[in-house]
Amino acid sequence: MKKVLYEELLPEEYVQKIKEMPVAYLPLGTLEWHGPHMPLGADGIQSKELFVRVAEKIGGVVLPMLFMGPDRVFDDWGTVFYGMDINTEGALNTYYAQQMKGSAYWMEKGLFQNLLRSILAQLSRAGVRIVVGHGHGPSTNAFQELKEEAEEKYGLRIMTAWTYAEDERLKYQNDHAGANETSIVMAVRPELVDFGQVKEDESNLIGIAGRHPVRESSVAFGNEILEYTMKTLIAGIEKEYKTIRER
Ligand SMILES: [Zn+2]
Repeated sequence: MKKVLYEELLPEEYVQKIKEMPVAYLPLGTLEWHGPHMPLGADGIQSKELFVRVAEKIGGVVLPMLFMGPDRVFDDWGTVFYGMDINTEGALNTYYAQQMKGSAYWMEKGLFQNLLRSILAQLSRAGVRIVVGHGHGPSTNAFQELKEEAEEKYGLRIMTAWTYAEDERLKYQNDHAGANETSIVMAVRPELVDFGQVKEDESNLIGIAGRHPVRESSVAFGNEILEYTMKTLIAGIEKEYKTIRER
């Protein structure tokens, strides 16, 4: 197995890797309730596992995952609810607003984008030319919004795992702890999914948006999403890299 994690590389190994393929991958995580059956770090775990596989195949370095990110927020006289604390359209089961167990990730969007700006500036300085960010939905969108600025200010191309993916059904992490995300974790880290945690009456199957995670998830579906995403993302990175080299 190739060394692809930025933090594990020796300086000369890093220089060589960036010379061969100047790409950095940024897993955008959360520590967030993803149903009773999934790990709190599901967002970052899915993107990191994708990026490690892509980097092993075409090169580049995988950054440590970020666990703070933006989300919708509702302040009820000092009690703050965010993200899936609040019942959303498309929720599998409806529920009362509540602070979901284990969630600890919320950060104001402007602050998050400033953090990303610092990361982009540092990566550009270290020789990176393309940055791929993906993970938690609102973080991925906030990252994508910096596209023009990244190009103009830092000379960086940025993209997400959605940039070149057209098949809605197979888009990576396109629900919240539903059949899409659950299947991905079953494919990349099967030991972290425990359906035994779901109560028989499904009363704890809340804070989930998407298709039924227990009934409609499978390793095969997760692998289908993973393979589709690797194929489209790798083609996208190679296309961008080609235009950079031709300059
Ligand atoms: Zn998620």
